[in-house]
Amino acid sequence: MKIIGLTGGIGSGKTTVAKMFAALGIPIYIADDEARKLSDSSVEIRKAMIELLGEMAYIDNKLNRSFVSQRIFTDKILLEKVNNIIHPRVADHFQNWVAMQTSSYVIKEAAILFENSGYKSCDAVILVTAPKAIRIERVMNRDKTNLQEIENRIHNQWSDSKKRKLAQFEIENIDLDVTKNKVLTLHNILLQN
Ligand code: ATP
Repeated sequence: MKIIGLTGGIGSGKTTVAKMFAALGIPIYIADDEARKLSDSSVEIRKAMIELLGEMAYIDNKLNRSFVSQRIFTDKILLEKVNNIIHPRVADHFQNWVAMQTSSYVIKEAAILFENSGYKSCDAVILVTAPKAIRIERVMNRDKTNLQEIENRIHNQWSDSKKRKLAQFEIENIDLDVTKNKVLTLHNILLQN
């Protein structure tokens, strides 16, 4: 079974495109959602995180995300340690999930795929793109967040031109009908290969 990575900058429309593949019957793994769920439910992750960051790392039986974010924001070594706790468990969970699928390919959606070398375990990667101004407008409408916050997040991600060099396919997502057609075309290519 082929593993197709799906990534793109904030507001590019990754989840929107992933849902279009799902509508064609393709199993979708949303890595960020699964990581969030596992961080709350996995006893192993909980134990390791408390050892690293103290009891404050959990609140009401859930990962205390604002506390953890504050701690890792300015501490790259700590960020790496947190990633080393969470990523291997998500990778195992993903492998177990893949083993249960029966389709000819699956999609793994992740905001960060090139930045952390996750693309190396994919057979191909689809990059979703849209002009920056449109992405900002979408996120502002969706999250009611401010421009500076979005600009910061964009600044922390790789640029599309850098990602493009490592992606096998690109879907420019501006008009939804055009995007849907591109998804269908790509789906047929992926089924044949
Ligand atoms: P993030 O990285 O922030 O999770 P994302 O890349 O997954 O974002 P989506 O959540 O799919 O992006 O899309 C962002 C917002 O833009 C959503 O509200 C979605 O409905 C809307 N959107 C996505 N694509 C289009 C489009 N082609 N036309 C209009 N709105 C769109």
